[in-house]
Amino acid sequence: MNTRGYVAQRASARLVPFEFERRELRSRDVALDVLFAGICHSDIHQVREEWGPSLFPMVPGHEIIGVVSAVGPDVTKFEVGDRIGVGVFVDSCRTCEHCRAGLQQYCAEGMTPTYNGYERDGTTLAMGGYSTRMVIDEDYAVHVAPSLDPAGAAPLLCAGITLYSPLRHWGAGPGKKVAIIGLGGLGHMGVQFAHAMGADVTVFSHSPTKESDAVALGADHFVATSDPTTLANLTQRYDIIVNSTSADIDLNPYLKLLALDGTLVIVGLSGVPVTLHQELLLEARRSIGGSQIGGMVELQEMMDFCAANDITAKVEVVSADYINEAWDRTVASDVTYRFVIDVATM
Ligand code: NAP
Ligand code: ZN
Ligand code: ZN
Repeated sequence: MNTRGYVAQRASARLVPFEFERRELRSRDVALDVLFAGICHSDIHQVREEWGPSLFPMVPGHEIIGVVSAVGPDVTKFEVGDRIGVGVFVDSCRTCEHCRAGLQQYCAEGMTPTYNGYERDGTTLAMGGYSTRMVIDEDYAVHVAPSLDPAGAAPLLCAGITLYSPLRHWGAGPGKKVAIIGLGGLGHMGVQFAHAMGADVTVFSHSPTKESDAVALGADHFVATSDPTTLANLTQRYDIIVNSTSADIDLNPYLKLLALDGTLVIVGLSGVPVTLHQELLLEARRSIGGSQIGGMVELQEMMDFCAANDITAKVEVVSADYINEAWDRTVASDVTYRFVIDVATM
């Protein structure tokens, strides 16, 4: 199927228009016309090879909302016309313990990423959602409630699930103090989720101008980290702190803010190794955890949670020819709070 998209032909290249073919439908595949694709900071890290070598040509995009345009003969989950979402992976081994538990993001063979990786045939380079059409096995897509604004729903497929999953896993809820470091694409979803789950929510931001937005999104407290002394009064306070920043920040001052048995969860992935002072873990039995997106079961659960609680990302919808500027502005933290590409402009 002829498809238009935007591609980086080599590392750090600007994205340019591109035409390529999608596979014909297999028996359990669905085809979708993409409506909106979110711009995740991970798209930028990978084209710029900030996580190590990448595969090119690369059509990024793993926050995808579309409408089903065709279904294979054995598809049972979707019908033509359904609103559908595709996230960060498009396949996995399906047989390992984690896949069988619905935790495909931790597949023992590695998940098959939506782009910057090979499909399970080992030779077809996966092409992501900055494109007009996609073909996906029905098991790796979710239903998206028609009540959700489709542009605002696109970032749920990565930014949303990446915060929803750890907040659930580490028990965010009434009586818990949760802090989110970084009010970006991921962070602003974390604030909305933690608030909806009933936790007391604090935002740590290096952008003082974001305070009113943080409060509007559900934060109970806002701390501007541009003045490092502001952290000194907050020691031993939080049960869960989630670092959602894209930059290489010093996490040691935040460890001190964790209460007894508190956990610092790392979801931001600058690609730079971190140095941590051990005594900050020992002195209050603190833990450090990491979390990677979410599996298919939880992805659908989060979509339904968003529909029930009327939660979407706050987005700036842009046309395809603005992608490169949008990337530069994302790196500069100059976006409220996610750029989403209107794929009709491709
Ligand atoms: P984003 O929209 O660019 O937001 C990152 C936020 O980090 C910014 O809004 C900013 O928040 C803060 N920040 C940026 N530069 C900073 C600096 N120099 N010092 C301090 N804070 C800074 O990025 P995103 O799309 O949310 O992604 C965030 C990170 O998560 C990326 O590294 C991405 O690759 C990673 N990620 C991980 C997963 C996963 O599965 N774990 C999934 C998706 C993305 P303030 O202005 O409020 O300080
Ligand atoms: Zn992402
Ligand atoms: Zn597996």
